[in-house]
Amino acid sequence: MRRLTRWMTGAMAVAMLAPAASSAQEARPRVVALTGGNVVDIDTGRTTPDATVLIEGERIVAVGPAASVPVPAGAKMVPMAGRWLAPGLMNMHVHFGLKLPGAAGAELVNETDGAQALRMADNARRSLLAGVTTVRLTAEDRGLDFQLRRAINAGQAVGPRIESAGELIVPTGGHGSLEADGPAEFSKVVREQIKRGASWIKIAISGGISDTHGAIGAAPMTDAELSTVLDVAKRNGVKVTAHNGSSVAAMQALKFGIDCFEHGYHLNDQVLAEMKKQGTWLVPTIVVSQPGAYEFYRKIGSPPWYLDRVASVGKDHWAVLQKAIRLGVNVALGTDQFPYEPNSGTTATVHEAELYVKAGMTPLAALQAATIQPARMLGLDKQVGRIAPGQYADIVALDADPVQDIGALRSLDFVMKGGIVYRDDDNPAAIDRIDPQTGKVS
Ligand SMILES: [Zn+2]
Repeated sequence: MRRLTRWMTGAMAVAMLAPAASSAQEARPRVVALTGGNVVDIDTGRTTPDATVLIEGERIVAVGPAASVPVPAGAKMVPMAGRWLAPGLMNMHVHFGLKLPGAAGAELVNETDGAQALRMADNARRSLLAGVTTVRLTAEDRGLDFQLRRAINAGQAVGPRIESAGELIVPTGGHGSLEADGPAEFSKVVREQIKRGASWIKIAISGGISDTHGAIGAAPMTDAELSTVLDVAKRNGVKVTAHNGSSVAAMQALKFGIDCFEHGYHLNDQVLAEMKKQGTWLVPTIVVSQPGAYEFYRKIGSPPWYLDRVASVGKDHWAVLQKAIRLGVNVALGTDQFPYEPNSGTTATVHEAELYVKAGMTPLAALQAATIQPARMLGLDKQVGRIAPGQYADIVALDADPVQDIGALRSLDFVMKGGIVYRDDDNPAAIDRIDPQTGKVS
């Protein structure tokens, strides 16, 4: 085609070639090459220096030393020399619509659905820019999470990939908003959430830090209610997680094969051993109970009783995390704060990973807990969690090797999701732009 244009002139060439050229372009996916970076193998922790990552459309098609990965002509080149490439971070305990007790939460009391959806979209965009390319939402309101996911998938909003548990299901008076009592009501509300789009179900089997009534250690659900939730979810191919700070409630839920526990503030050795045996996941959200979070609670105007309750939980929570790591319980990173929330000089997501190392993980294990482990927990490890052919091109870049020092995550300054560059602080010209008329990335 290019040779033809040399002898045809002006309007004639344009008229003849433009339609064919544009339809050919539409058929061929966009090709992007990340060149010269150090690519971290998330399974082994080994780095391939001066590597090329070749991306076609949304997915990675080749990864390897520069000499072994030819870059086709016309590919968009993004230089990565001096940087380490890791899979996009995954945060498994997020509420984009989060409201906590205190002044900031009080301002949101009369928030309309429209206003809340827009606030959630802002939180989603900021989370993605902080390097979090996949989240699991663990309780949102009135189906706004499913609307947001639809908008992101349609390119109408910018944010991470979303898995969601919809609304938090609880027995009447429990730590959540969607109340049910007895097996019939529980099966109804579980099916309703799945119908709306929930890929997880979340229940609260004990009290919570922010509750004003009921003990964290209580176990208010009956065997019939718990087993019904798990049975109905399993029949629909949906996993179940529980907000839980009670060992009695944990043993009860493990008896019926629960997939995951959130927080685990007060789990005893028997529970942790059973979790190890069953392969049950723990999403620690350790940042919420440790001193780094006090600054956040003060900022949002949390009342003194809330700060006292956080402090009282913090010591036990830390000991449970240390023991879980020592026993080799499956851990997937989650924060229960906005993924980008400032915490200890970095984001809540990065500090959560740092705390895992402080509690006994190797830096590689902590990096895995932030990437491939959540992907496994979600059953999406063939899609996300690695920099490997066939996977979505969800990639972040750092200035140092996170396998040597997890603190390298603090230098995160490049974010790609599905082959689109959303952030590149070193080279802002590499950030992709959306054509306002066609909505296409160029
Ligand atoms: Zn939560």
